Amino acid sequence: ATPTALLVGTGRGAQLGILIKGPEVLESTRKADTVVLDKTGTITSGQMTLVDVVAANGADRAEVLRLAGALEVASEHPIAQAVAAGAAKAGPLPAVTGFANLEGLGVSGVVDGRAVLVGRPRLLRERDLVVPEEIEAVGTAAQAAGRTAVLVAWDGRARGLLTVADVVRPSSAVAVRQLRELGLNPVLLTGDNETVARTVADEVGIDQVIAEVLPADKVAVVQRLQREGRGVAMIGDGVNDAAALAQADLGLAMGTGTDVAIEASDLTLVRGELTAAVDAIRLSRRTLSIIR
Ligand code: ADP
Ligand code: MG
Repeated sequence: ATPTALLVGTGRGAQLGILIKGPEVLESTRKADTVVLDKTGTITSGQMTLVDVVAANGADRAEVLRLAGALEVASEHPIAQAVAAGAAKAGPLPAVTGFANLEGLGVSGVVDGRAVLVGRPRLLRERDLVVPEEIEAVGTAAQAAGRTAVLVAWDGRARGLLTVADVVRPSSAVAVRQLRELGLNPVLLTGDNETVARTVADEVGIDQVIAEVLPADKVAVVQRLQREGRGVAMIGDGVNDAAALAQADLGLAMGTGTDVAIEASDLTLVRGELTAAVDAIRLSRRTLSIIR
């Protein structure tokens, strides 16, 4: 009877849009008491749009957008896609040479003979660049509204700021409440800014926020929770979530996410809705109770 119940469980999973890697995964759903959720592309849609462009230090807005857009064409980050799409609307974009993806920080490259940087404040600080007060204030206001702000710099000076908006998936708040009802304590884990992370967490009902975490450190957060004795389920979509998804007791990937995240996970939520994680855990637990 045991193999039959497992087959029924995983078959029903496929109907619900949940792909389970193997029957052994079911057991992990019982141990989980903590659920770590990535922000961009997991709680939010990850389909960002460019909202604002601000210039500083003698640059003009069109130039800030053109140079940043040219650089971001080469990046697959959701922020990059928003910036590149916004810039392309204004006209053709110049070519880039020496492009580098600085993981969790931003991008760099040469456009029109200028060494351009686009990324978070930390990236500019690491290069000894000063962020002008007026653009910093715009960034702070955007973050309080839940938007991500990135800085643009070239030739040794910060030249502007871009803000991008993402939308919280309508089903995320419901899913967080249901995960709590299943006994899972939610934690938001993101590389994005603390203020943005808090705003999104408040919107979906999460109290515990771990923000500004570099991609390589996401796995360390999962390990720390495990050392504290917690059974960790992790839900993510990005390349930067893969190691943490593999480390978690139960890794769940958004089907709308990257292949690397899907490969690293035990379960895939095909439609990319967090409510499917609730279905997955309920179904697994029910299947286990039939076996016993
Ligand atoms: P998340 O966990 O939100 O997916 P990441 O670790 O990918 O975050 O990135 C963290 C931060 O680094 C972003 O919020 C952004 O400020 C900056 N960043 C990363 N990649 C880019 C990029 N291509 N363009 C601009 N900024 C970037
Ligand atoms: Mg993500």
